[in-house]
Amino acid sequence: MIDKTKFPDIAFRKHDHRRCQRQLLTEASQLCATRKLRLTPRRRQVLEIMLASHQPMGAYDILARLNRADSAERIAPPIVYRALEFLMAEGLIHRIESRNAFITCAHPGHESAAQFLICRDCERVAEVETSAQSLLAEADNLGFAVDHSVVEITGVCAECQKHAG
Ligand SMILES: [Zn+2]
Ligand SMILES: [Zn+2]
Ligand SMILES: [Zn+2]
Repeated sequence: MIDKTKFPDIAFRKHDHRRCQRQLLTEASQLCATRKLRLTPRRRQVLEIMLASHQPMGAYDILARLNRADSAERIAPPIVYRALEFLMAEGLIHRIESRNAFITCAHPGHESAAQFLICRDCERVAEVETSAQSLLAEADNLGFAVDHSVVEITGVCAECQKHAG
């Protein structure tokens, strides 16, 4: 078991990504089972494709990979969009707004808003739980009803800094 809360930067470090993939897929299917949701083969396939790396993936990239994997049938964009909408609504994936792309959630089912560190060199994304509580508390103080909060911090991960030096 990889403790992702302890090491939110796992995306940036050398690790056994197969374990990562297996674990996230298990967590996702468990969450769907608990919520009595159907993780259809197509939704699962999209999730698997997205789990290839810790880099966010655009909808068209996912579509291209689906079509490559499933050459018998031509998959149309709405199918991918519907799958992405479902996965996003259930918190199994997140949208990286600044990249117009999607990333699998590192801890499916969390309550707090997702926040991301994005490395501009390797393009990997780490999801962090340390929340922008003070900002949200301030919004609350001001009587501001928050709909949606996006925290995406771009920079260079420790690994890439090492290689640059
Ligand atoms: Zn991994
Ligand atoms: Zn998440
Ligand atoms: Zn990096």
